[in-house]
Amino acid sequence: MDVSTSFNAAAMLDSLAGIVGPAQVITDAHDIEPYVTDWRRMFGGPALAAVRPADTAQVAAVVRACAAAGVGIIAQGGNTGLAGGAVPIAGRAGPQIVLSLARMTAIRDVDPVGMTMLVQAGCVLAAAQEAAADAGLLLPISFGAQGSARLGGVISTNAGGVNVLRYGMTRQSVLGLEVVLADGSVVNGLRRLHKDNAGYDWKQIFIGSEGTLGIVTAAVLRLVPRPRERGTALLAVPTPEAALALLARARGALGDGVTAFELISGRSLRIVERHFGGSAGVGGSAGVGDAPWFVLMEAAGSIGGLRAAVEDMLVGAIEAGEATDGVLAESETQANALWSLREHITDAEKAEGPSVKHDVSVPVADIPAFLAEASAAVAAAHAGAWVNAFGHVGDGNIHFNVVIPPGMAPHAVNHTVHEIVARFAGSISAEHGIGQYRIGELATYKSAPELALQRRLKQAMDPDGLLNPGKLLPG
Ligand SMILES: Cc1cc2nc3c(=O)[nH]c(=O)nc-3n(C[C@H](O)[C@H](O)[C@H](O)COP(=O)(O)OP(=O)(O)OC[C@H]3O[C@@H](n4cnc5c(N)ncnc54)[C@H](O)[C@@H]3O)c2cc1C
Repeated sequence: MDVSTSFNAAAMLDSLAGIVGPAQVITDAHDIEPYVTDWRRMFGGPALAAVRPADTAQVAAVVRACAAAGVGIIAQGGNTGLAGGAVPIAGRAGPQIVLSLARMTAIRDVDPVGMTMLVQAGCVLAAAQEAAADAGLLLPISFGAQGSARLGGVISTNAGGVNVLRYGMTRQSVLGLEVVLADGSVVNGLRRLHKDNAGYDWKQIFIGSEGTLGIVTAAVLRLVPRPRERGTALLAVPTPEAALALLARARGALGDGVTAFELISGRSLRIVERHFGGSAGVGGSAGVGDAPWFVLMEAAGSIGGLRAAVEDMLVGAIEAGEATDGVLAESETQANALWSLREHITDAEKAEGPSVKHDVSVPVADIPAFLAEASAAVAAAHAGAWVNAFGHVGDGNIHFNVVIPPGMAPHAVNHTVHEIVARFAGSISAEHGIGQYRIGELATYKSAPELALQRRLKQAMDPDGLLNPGKLLPG
């Protein structure tokens, strides 16, 4: 603990221990480390303590104590965020705590008729998915970190993932929220209603607000029918243009049965094979050879005939030259192995060395031009760097990550890529949020009136600036 303060830290810690119990106020340097360092080990800084409340009442009491003492509060779920939002900022003045929701894991109600579930904010996404599956339903939020990400974090980042194409971002799956406001008051909007136009839909301002407007303590989630059939295919495609033609073909043939459509560069798959090729659960891509690009697509439905329709569509795509080869999973195990390839890309990239991440979106039709221009610009300006591009191409969202040699300045690489994103009228953060990672650039790429509106919102909700200080909004 290294916090220079003009307030009484010992008294504050006593007060927090009085609320959550001494064992749930973590200050030991070793024990606090996972709470104050982010998943990429890129961000982090000192905190007075990591505090682990057991329920909403304790969260509210902790927030009230912090508000009274002027202590900043960094909400944390699974700490898998990629923007440094859930951990302190190194060198930032002023005392702050990490408020971990990890003990609040209850799944309270799964309603198979109304197709809803009520979860506490600390519930791990995969556990909620399993509970939905047990009821014969689907919680359609899905992404690589689902075994660790917690729903409060998922909601507060408005996470995307692989099913956005059909089911939308997390926002579309949230029907109700319970939040603790900056003054410690609790607002319970845990209604299981699919329709509710009675006034402002206030929950929306908390979704994606990265812990800067309030603490999410529980949510009612919308579930959807669980498709009985799925068809998962990995296809070699010659170019990103061909991938878009394939997307149009798939939608023409399968309608909104297309649930996921991921573009993956050949290099991304090769690094997965290099680092995880021997691991259980990671299937090889050998069946589709060595191509410059791949598409991992999935279609799902319940009315029968899906597999035959996918097969016909793939044959047509190969005849048209949109795909050069492909494998359609024969079993659930094989389908999972294909997804495992996709889900290991981020970890494989981590194993390759330092990388500069760009979670960008551009209009879908501009993806091929964006990829070509941005790749050429990186090659021209940053010798020794290479592009690891993959992403949810059906949503216009590319993870255009650049693996850099030691010593290369990441900001220069960011600038190169984001200038091109801006030329395509894209977004510098499609799904990972702003946190502390993108905060400097937001001031450049968001318009002044948009920033002013966001500051008014922040001022209204958190006038003392104690909720996740220094994150999301440039000062
Ligand atoms: C391998 C890997 C793959 C990923 N793939 C995707 C992907 O495909 N799509 C995607 O969108 N993201 C992805 N992510 C990013 C990350 O998993 C998501 O942003 C996730 O939603 C974060 O959840 P979390 O519980 O870990 O949140 P944390 O990292 O703990 O927190 C994230 C932000 O939310 C705030 N927060 C957390 N809990 C609360 C709460 N209860 N109330 C208020 N604020 C809170 C934090 O302060 C922080 O600002 C990936 C990450 C990894 C490591």
